[in-house]
Amino acid sequence: MSGPREACGLFGLWGDPDAAAKTYYGLFALQHRGQESAGIASTDGERVVRHRGMGTLPKVFSNRADLRKLKNPVAIGHVRYSTTGQSQLVNAQPLAANTQHGTFLVTHNGNLTNGAALRQSFEEKGSIFQTTSDSEVILHLLASAEGSSDPLERVLAMCRQLEGAFSLLILTPKAMFAVRDPQGFRPLWLGRGEGGAVAFASETPAFDLTRIEHVRELEPGTVTMVTDAGTSEHRFADARPAHCVFEHVYFARPDGTLFGDPVWRARKAMGRALAREHPIEADVVVAIPDSGNAAAMGYSEESGIQLEQGFIRNHYVGRTFIQPDPSERSLHADLKLNVVRWAVEGKRVVVIDDSVVRGTTARRRCAYLRAAGAREVHLRISCPPIRNPCFYGVDFQSKGELLAADHSLEEIREKLGVDSVGYLSVEGMLGVLSRPAESYCTACWTGDYPVRIPEGMSKKSCGEMLPLIEG
Ligand code: 5GP
Ligand code: MG
Repeated sequence: MSGPREACGLFGLWGDPDAAAKTYYGLFALQHRGQESAGIASTDGERVVRHRGMGTLPKVFSNRADLRKLKNPVAIGHVRYSTTGQSQLVNAQPLAANTQHGTFLVTHNGNLTNGAALRQSFEEKGSIFQTTSDSEVILHLLASAEGSSDPLERVLAMCRQLEGAFSLLILTPKAMFAVRDPQGFRPLWLGRGEGGAVAFASETPAFDLTRIEHVRELEPGTVTMVTDAGTSEHRFADARPAHCVFEHVYFARPDGTLFGDPVWRARKAMGRALAREHPIEADVVVAIPDSGNAAAMGYSEESGIQLEQGFIRNHYVGRTFIQPDPSERSLHADLKLNVVRWAVEGKRVVVIDDSVVRGTTARRRCAYLRAAGAREVHLRISCPPIRNPCFYGVDFQSKGELLAADHSLEEIREKLGVDSVGYLSVEGMLGVLSRPAESYCTACWTGDYPVRIPEGMSKKSCGEMLPLIEG
């Protein structure tokens, strides 16, 4: 796999006879957040059942029986794209442990900055780890927390030990817990389903299909507990909001709402701001689909330059497409999009994408516009130059991989082979969002990390164990 990777998606439902099936549909709406593995665990109040596997949801739940065995009124589920830990079945979530204080299942979106340190201290005391995922320390903390065996107290004690990004759903036979880290890096929503069912999801589109009402996002630094007695909220740390703006720029579905703003509106407004900051004389605006669509519309509206569909997507290209021979790599990469020659030939084109990471996408797409006869190609990017790795769950791994990390704007223009390039400024980007600028994480653009990064931390700092060979 090349290219940067998504974070994960969470969904949970308490008090619905079809909890597992609805969790399946909810996760399906979150599939963009991860396609590497998927899993659902459900309970009837006594027994917990889990089904998980590698690949997309339809692959993991390839027959009805997989869901039927999960038919219980309470379920949590996860789609994963590893940001730490290797791609293996043992890492597929929900992770599970039977402890002296009962059974816990955990799903995690985010990345723990102290995951490696916690794991090391457990291993020094003789603990055995089954996975290479940073999320497994959560189970160890739940099992070993001092104090009572009351699950809520154990969850609160566990949360106080974690640093970094963690939106969590935790299941026990008698309770569900939804956790958001003090920064609220990753989203997590509370919803209300039919018959008073309580729901949680990473993004609101996961609620829409199953007619779950969007209630609100969970408060950073809190645990929400759901039991047969009702729902209650418990604070484990002061809120210090640092919401990931990249969720707005790229990750999240444009039909949802995040951190108080509809994603579509935010993206369009970023495109408008981009047009004000980097105007250019041109004949058409085109998006690099789908990620550039909303910003291109905003750019077109603000500039008055007509929007055209410059690329057509082939919807049948998926992960099931046979892996190409090295000689076919570039064919494979181009299979997804083709240029609409008529829309760009002889024209001065402004091409919009949401972000440049390595630069592969922009370079390739702009070259195709030129080959199709575009007279000028002006690249506009609806977020600032990405210069720093993310340690909170986005897979921008090392500076070396980031085009903007050590190149000037002119060098970037040249490398991408365009006539001009313009990035939205940090102020311009934050200016379209409704919360105060201090309540967002901008580390990948500014290098300003809201939670301390341990020295030498890298993707590999967590869980470098040998993979188990399973038959
Ligand atoms: P590049 O090709 O420059 O490495 O990546 C930029 C392109 O990838 C943009 O079109 C953007 O929409 C998309 N992109 C940005 N971040 C991510 C990510 O985390 N995962 C995936 N799959 N694509 C991303
Ligand atoms: Mg894209």
